This record gives sequence, structure tokens and C-alpha cells, in this order.
Amino acid sequence: MKVYLDNSATTSVDPAVVKEMLPYFEQVYGNASSFYSFGREAKAALDKSRETVAGILGAKADEIFFTSGGTESDNLAIFGSLSAIGKKGHIITSKIEHHAVLYSFEHLEKMGYEVTYLNVDKNGSVSVEELEKSIKDNTLLVSIMHANNEIGTLQPIKEISTLLSNLNNARKDKIYFHTDAVQTAGKVPIDVKDLDIDYLSLSAHKFNGPKGIGVLYVKRGSAISPIMYGGHQENGLRSGTENIPYIVGLSKALELSAHSMASNSQTIARLRDKLQLGIINKIPEVLINGNPAKSIPNILNASFRYIEGESLLARMDAKGISASAGSACATGSLSHVLAALGVNPVDIQGAVRFSFGHNNTEADVDYVLEVLPEIVAGLRKMSPLWKGK
Ligand SMILES: *Cc1c(COP(=O)(O)O)cnc(C)c1O
Repeated sequence: MKVYLDNSATTSVDPAVVKEMLPYFEQVYGNASSFYSFGREAKAALDKSRETVAGILGAKADEIFFTSGGTESDNLAIFGSLSAIGKKGHIITSKIEHHAVLYSFEHLEKMGYEVTYLNVDKNGSVSVEELEKSIKDNTLLVSIMHANNEIGTLQPIKEISTLLSNLNNARKDKIYFHTDAVQTAGKVPIDVKDLDIDYLSLSAHKFNGPKGIGVLYVKRGSAISPIMYGGHQENGLRSGTENIPYIVGLSKALELSAHSMASNSQTIARLRDKLQLGIINKIPEVLINGNPAKSIPNILNASFRYIEGESLLARMDAKGISASAGSACATGSLSHVLAALGVNPVDIQGAVRFSFGHNNTEADVDYVLEVLPEIVAGLRKMSPLWKGK
């Protein structure tokens, strides 16, 4: 049996999405910037996709920019806003951001920006009070993710934007606000006007769309400059020939996921809770990391104490189960997210992230619960830490 439980790393492309994309490879292959009919048809698909995405997010079409994915959207929001602001100053993020944000801030720190990395509590929540205390006269940008990709914790984005807009009323220099919503799209509703943010990043492959295509929402009037120069596509913000099949695929995937979000989220949460309960009942010495009650519905992060997560993952893989140690991009190093939560290093080593998608079934959970206790017991038998406890 094969069980895929790494949907926070990536998802399968929905067959309906593939079907929607196919004509744009061989039939409607024109360049959307060309004036003749092949180009006009591609342009029509581009415009329609932009309208669809804008409609779902509560944005205007001219606030939607297509990029190559979550990483580029995060980089464009951060470097593009600061470039438009045009002066150095203080910027704020959290210690548990995805590396696309965290390493961008570390780079900016080396370039002379002053950076605050906010702590999180043991559930992974940023404190709005701590954020408020960290703000300075020269603060330019705040970037806090919507939900974390290792533990699923949802951040108080609306409270933060309310705080910032109150502060901005009395400031000379506006503080801009970006959120990486790559993990939330398709799992919780996103309305950019309600969240009241300046920039929001999405990536199609996290919601059953293709890899290599994403969106950056930029509020009308918010500071933004390009970080790449070329053919002036995407209203000059993101040059490069538009990837029409993938843009069409992203728009279809977002439409499908928005449409079935309520029922999918319910099913997925039930499967996750069943796995959590089963693990706790069948396996001693397990810690649940984060707080599933304050999280997106699809992530369960558990530390199997006294063994190494990597060995556990390898043995699960041998039984056909795909899960991960947290972040697909951080293999080999200890999770910076769990460290920020205050999880002790030994328990970080024993951490495994199970992340569900809409293809998972009860049978998947039953199978994991059937093989996992034996694997854990086997590894513990060989573990000096287990024997010595
Ligand atoms: C996956 C992910 C990204 C990166 O998106 P890509 O499309 O793979 O570049 C960024 N942020 C978060 C929270 C993610 O989960």
C-alpha cells in the first residue's frame, strides 16, 4: 500500500486542472503579448485567469501578479517593496517563517537593514503585543506568514493589520505588511480586503495545481518595484513571457479548492484527528507539536521521543508511507520552527510531519496506525536514549 502524507510539501495536480491546461500547450500556444489571433486567445485566457483569482481572493484584477511560485512571490514582495520605498530602515518578521522569507531577511540584514525576528509561543503563535513593542520610527515592512508549513499554526494576521493601520494613521512613513499564505490557500478562506494586507503570496502546487506558478497580490497603491527587468509583462512588475498553461492551471486549481474548501477541510481535519488520537493511544512517549486546534486542518506534527525522525521516515518509506521531517527544504538540519517553539533538540530530532490532502482516506490512516507502532518500537529497541531513560 502507498500512502502520501506530505501534502504540505506538494500535492498531486487535480485531473480537472490538467484537462484545463492541455489546450494551452498545443493549440493556444501564442504569446499573450502578440496582436494576432493566437496571441489574443492566450491573452484572453490570461485575463480570465486573473479575474478568477482576483474574484476568489476579494481583490481587483490589476492587484494580481503571476510569478513562478511561492519563493518568487515572497522575494518580490520583500525586495520589491523595499526597493520602491527606497531607503534603509527597520524590518520585522518571525522566527518561524519559511526560508523564502527568513533567508531574504537575513540577506537584508547583511545589506544593512535592521531586523527584528519575533519569538513565538509554544504553539507557534506570534504575539501582537510583542510586535507592537518592536516597532520603531524607521520600521518599513512586516512579514508574518498566514499559517506555518511545519506545524500549521495560524497567525493573527487580521489583528496585526489592524494594529499597523492604526499606527500608520499617525506616522509619516507607512509600515507595509506582507503575508505568506502559501499553506492556507484552499484550506481557510482568504479575503485580502478583510485581512487588509499590502502583499500576499500563493503557490499553485500546494493546492493541487502545477509546480512553478504562483501569485503575488499587491494592494493598489502599495509600494512595489520589479526585481527583474525585461519585456514589461504583468504591468511591468514581473517581466518574462506569461506561462499561460500554468496560469490557467493555477486559476482552475484555486477555483476548485475554494469551491470544495468547507467539505474538504472537514474531512481532512477528521483524518488528522483520527491519526493523532490513534498515535497517542498506541504509542507511548509522543509529543504533539503546535496546537492543532489553532491550525490549518491538514498538519499533524509529532515527536516520537528517543528515536530519530530520519530513521522513522526511512522505515515508513520502506512500508510505502511518505511523510517528512517538517520542511522539504530543510533536510539534514534541525527544524528552526520547532526550535523557536522551545521543543528540546532531542525531541526535534524525533519529529515527523504528517500532512493530509483531499486524496487521503480512512484506509490511509488505518494503515499508518497498523504499521507505525511496530516501527517505533523496533527503533526504540536499538536506541541508547530509550534504554537509558
Ligand atoms: C512551499 C512554500 C513556499 C515555497 O513555495 P514554492 O512555490 O515551492 O516556491 C513558501 N512558503 C511556504 C509557507 C511554503 O509552504
